Amino acid sequence: MKTDQTKESRATAETAVYGSEEMLTPAPTEFIPQHKTTPEIAYRMVKDETYSQTQPHLNLATFVTTYMDDYATKLMNDAININFIDETEYPRVAVMCGRCINILANLWHTPEKNAWKAGAVGIGSSEACMLGGVAAWLRWRAKRRKEGKPYDKPNLVMSAAYQIVWEKFCQLWQIELRTVPISLEHPTLDAEAALKLCDENTICIVPIAGVTWTGLNDDVEALDRALDRYNKNTGHDIPIHVDAASGGFILPFTSPDEKWDFRLKWVCSISTSGHKFGLVYPGLGWVVWRDKSYLPEEMSFSVNYLGANITQVGLNFSRPAAQILGQYYNFIRLGFDGYREIQQNSMSITQYCHDEIGKMHCFRNYSPKVVNPLFIWYMNPEYEKRAKWTLFDLQASLQQSGWMVPAYTLPKSMDEVIVMRVVARQGMSRDMADMLLGDIRNAVAEFEKLEYPTPSRIAYEKKIHQKGRVFTH
Ligand SMILES: *Cc1c(COP(=O)(O)O)cnc(C)c1O
Repeated sequence: MKTDQTKESRATAETAVYGSEEMLTPAPTEFIPQHKTTPEIAYRMVKDETYSQTQPHLNLATFVTTYMDDYATKLMNDAININFIDETEYPRVAVMCGRCINILANLWHTPEKNAWKAGAVGIGSSEACMLGGVAAWLRWRAKRRKEGKPYDKPNLVMSAAYQIVWEKFCQLWQIELRTVPISLEHPTLDAEAALKLCDENTICIVPIAGVTWTGLNDDVEALDRALDRYNKNTGHDIPIHVDAASGGFILPFTSPDEKWDFRLKWVCSISTSGHKFGLVYPGLGWVVWRDKSYLPEEMSFSVNYLGANITQVGLNFSRPAAQILGQYYNFIRLGFDGYREIQQNSMSITQYCHDEIGKMHCFRNYSPKVVNPLFIWYMNPEYEKRAKWTLFDLQASLQQSGWMVPAYTLPKSMDEVIVMRVVARQGMSRDMADMLLGDIRNAVAEFEKLEYPTPSRIAYEKKIHQKGRVFTH
């Protein structure tokens, strides 16, 4: 086996890819190779390294789009060399981006009267959440400053089932993150408990539409009502930012009458992932403010770039334009009806899997309701007492058939509960659901033949024992 990376490759256009020296040489891990090689060989080396990974279609762990139609794919590939920030060169991309923001703002019932709604595009919800959070922090700071009050101890209140981006946001901007634990009695954000954590330094409360951990929705309407009372009594004016990474593209289509958006008084900004149920390939996120007055001026940067003055709101500068075209294409191609049909199909498949899992003696669903195209379940506590396996074993077993179905423990206060989650995105059919359920049943039948507990079960028993708990929950 040759390991000498300095040896000049003799590969020519005629070299058979797998007859080349490169195929006998370890891949570069630290230094750029000295010599060049043919594009075919370079392509194969990179391509082959990605082969062993999960099939995107069978990846039921991710929320992110793994299917777009051929025209969308063509459109996005055609735009692969377009930088969104070059507004002067590609002004129509910026216009289409603005139209997408308008469409989302109206889908979420904005009261904004301006023709162009206040919003921004991001790489994902992470950037969109950060922008919503920064705006809330700057507004709070400006108000405190004007009142001559200290503004050095901001805090943010949300459920402990937050997505990790909020921890990042709070850490990067030095904001205290105050969390409300979830429990079986309060599986979503408890509004009264959230308000108990609020004070004059609270920059905003962040309910989640489509909680990543559980698939449930925080009750934004109840929170808004309670907050209205609270703000009246205390004289504060704490606003709401809705993290609707999933829900932003689900609720308008499946539950148009449910109020979670700008129809509520205190909702001042909403973020969503265009690359989740917006049905666009990664990375795309959106944030919309209630109206221009909620977007602090300090967040708009006027930059002179490539010959023109442009105004930009965002953490990134250069970014691909393709996803924006993909989003605008989807709006035109699918329309409201198309989105509704796809989301409803995903919901029906989820409901079907949820009900079938619920019928199995060894499992119990976390919630009787399915409100987003994802759900979680855990082991039936009675069954768990004598089980020799855990859901981590089931995850590993399903992986052998190509499925990625993640098992994990819930946040803080419930971290002894192992759950398993399925996200049924566009691309998951009833036939695939039946295959998955069949594989789960077969795996369970095998586990029930076990004579000795699995290593994961032994570790789990130890953890429960250390916590001084028996199998409750
Ligand atoms: C996925 C998710 C995020 C982060 O979104 P990205 O689009 O992956 O950056 C934030 N919040 C919630 C609730 C999410 O589900």
